[in-house]
Amino acid sequence: MNDLVVLRYGEIFLKGKNRSFFISALRNNLKRALEPLGHAQLKGVHGRFLVFSNDNKEVIEACRHVFGITSISPAVMFSPSMENAITAGLEIMSDSGVSSFKVKVRRSDKSFPVKSPEIAAEVGGQIHTKTGIKVDLHNPEVIVEIEIGKEISFISLERIPGPGGLPVGVSSTVELLLSAGIDSPVAGYMMLKRGASINATTFYSPPWVGEESLEKAISLSKVLSQWGAQMKLTVVKYGEAQKILRKCRPDKLAVILYRRLMMRTTGIIAARNGAKALVTGESLGQVASQTLENMIAIDDASPMLVLRPLVTWDKSETIEWARKIGTYDISILPHEDSCTLFMPPAPETKAKMDQVIQAEKNIDTMQMAQDLADDAIVINI
Ligand code: ATP
Ligand code: MG
Repeated sequence: MNDLVVLRYGEIFLKGKNRSFFISALRNNLKRALEPLGHAQLKGVHGRFLVFSNDNKEVIEACRHVFGITSISPAVMFSPSMENAITAGLEIMSDSGVSSFKVKVRRSDKSFPVKSPEIAAEVGGQIHTKTGIKVDLHNPEVIVEIEIGKEISFISLERIPGPGGLPVGVSSTVELLLSAGIDSPVAGYMMLKRGASINATTFYSPPWVGEESLEKAISLSKVLSQWGAQMKLTVVKYGEAQKILRKCRPDKLAVILYRRLMMRTTGIIAARNGAKALVTGESLGQVASQTLENMIAIDDASPMLVLRPLVTWDKSETIEWARKIGTYDISILPHEDSCTLFMPPAPETKAKMDQVIQAEKNIDTMQMAQDLADDAIVINI
């Protein structure tokens, strides 16, 4: 247990009264992320979490996936005294190979006899004298960070960015409509980042659509679970329902009717899972079908709030994030899409509500949704 990692959290401080709630959620999530390592011990001190372990690398990799963490630093402990601070500073800097630095001190133990600026000046001066490395207060290559605390003091050189956001679990639960495409997994990630717990529902249409789209949805769910989602994936078999909807007229509305029934069905599943909103990966104008008019027609069928975290994003931004979070390579594997199954020749791009209602007139969409939800299969990821 000689290795130490310091974890900082930012936004949580802004949350006033909720602070302790956020911190305990973060602590639980960190524990869960670190548990598989088997050798990491978590400790909260003066606005930080510390992780003691046998292997900083593994700890950093695990904590990089925990929302609420803003930065991560491998660090070295010392017992608080000026002499030890200087020794630690020299040790950390002597083989760093950098050309300039500054020292930043945070003294949370106010009974420590030397004030922060003096500690910084003294440690910085000694490092410069003994190693020749230049002090640069304005544009240093590295910042030597020293924290003097009652229980523990430590020094670090490097800040690895954390994922930011809020701890998963502090923002209620949502139900993600997860396809096998690029967008919806990213939308799910963005909800996790804002502290929502997520479950996912995927619609797939065997035998018209192959197994691979379901396998992709499962793989994508697994990636999301690495970002703190402890999720259930509900699988709805959709082909027969689509065939019924496809017979409605005018046929240009077929895709909108598929989507509306998806919302109704997912709404039932969401309620079962305790979710308060549905989430899709739609983006305004991204494809001809994702117009405001069509979104209005789709939302009209949803029993709950529909969130679209990517609504203003360019596809290139979504792809960039998909790469970053590890879903892209799965999403681009070939698959057939349920919604492009039984596509009409010229799908509607600006749905009119009265036409949509008229098109559904002769079918019992509520009953269909209930049946689909009842027949769905749940997979624990
Ligand atoms: P994605 O890459 O997420 O599939 P997309 O740009 O391909 O998005 P569409 O296929 O039009 O767009 O789907 C829009 C949204 O509808 C998706 O982001 C997803 O939330 C939902 N959706 C589409 N198909 C399915 C499906 N088979 N199962 C569950 N949700 C789906
Ligand atoms: Mg799609």
